[in-house]
Amino acid sequence: MAERLVLVTGAAGFLGSHLCDALLAGGHQVVGVDNLSTGNLENLSHLKDEPRFFFEQMDITRAFDPGEVDYVFNFASPASPVDYMRLGIETLLVGSAGTINTLEIAKKYRAGYLHASTSECYGDPLVHPQVESYWGNVNPIGPRSVYDEAKRFSEAAVAAYRRYHGVNTHLVRIFNTYGPRLQPHDGRVISNLMMQALRGEPLTIYGDGLQTRSFCYCSDLIDGILRLSKSDEHDPVNIGNPDEWTILECAKEVQSLVGSRSEIVFEPLPQDDPTRRRPDITRAQKLLGWSPKVALREGLELSLEYFTACVEREKARA
Ligand code: UDP
Repeated sequence: MAERLVLVTGAAGFLGSHLCDALLAGGHQVVGVDNLSTGNLENLSHLKDEPRFFFEQMDITRAFDPGEVDYVFNFASPASPVDYMRLGIETLLVGSAGTINTLEIAKKYRAGYLHASTSECYGDPLVHPQVESYWGNVNPIGPRSVYDEAKRFSEAAVAAYRRYHGVNTHLVRIFNTYGPRLQPHDGRVISNLMMQALRGEPLTIYGDGLQTRSFCYCSDLIDGILRLSKSDEHDPVNIGNPDEWTILECAKEVQSLVGSRSEIVFEPLPQDDPTRRRPDITRAQKLLGWSPKVALREGLELSLEYFTACVEREKARA
């Protein structure tokens, strides 16, 4: 991309804020919007004197017009299971009306468009590792459906705006991602384990801990997304780290990194919690020349300072 005016929705979120940083570093101007339902302005506080960054607090489920933008990155949605189950209707609305509203902007200004989709489109997958051609195994009425089906609707909407209106769309299916700016209390496994280990509290494992996830460090993910945004690829592309861990192994890695002697406690497994998840990244490798570089241990080390500061802030408030 030459220097451009870029709209980022969900700009105050974990990934949205890292994306804003990367776009600004690439010489672009960025309009960031967020309704702050799960986003945090602290994630953007370092940009307060940046003249190429504009922030507006707004809800994208109502039609809006940011002016003539060249590119739209649609990253607005609650994303952790705890948050999207708490904000179920909001999650359905942002992944339907919100997506349509942002697609209308891309259509109006002939802007490029990239939508943040998710491995949750595969549900509790019966195909392993997950390839993009797999249609998924999603419970349409279960507790996760507010997120999964909204994201699947968004994919249909993105495909339709390309098919009917010729919008230059891109779809990334994001697998579990972590790093600094993950909300410390969002209930996700990496944030929970890091915070618990640093507080010296027991580490909570849901179920037997043998379910798997594959964790991608945020800088790798943003690199893949930027490559996809500049590519000619319009079908979904998985971006994630294929290094697969059981949750129990992951807890032990966190313990050893933090030097914690916290015990591990087992709690009930939430309904419809996927049994295993690992991206097949052959398409990203071939189409984008992309592979993740940061291993879990290294990524956790890179996140340690951030989570330590979160725990210290908690202590100072108490
Ligand atoms: N999990 C866990 N302990 C926690 C939080 C999560 O064992 O304190 C498990 C959760 O049940 C799931 C996995 O870790 O199997 C990943 O959960 P997360 O909420 O991070 O995201 P998901 O991949 O399920 O969307």
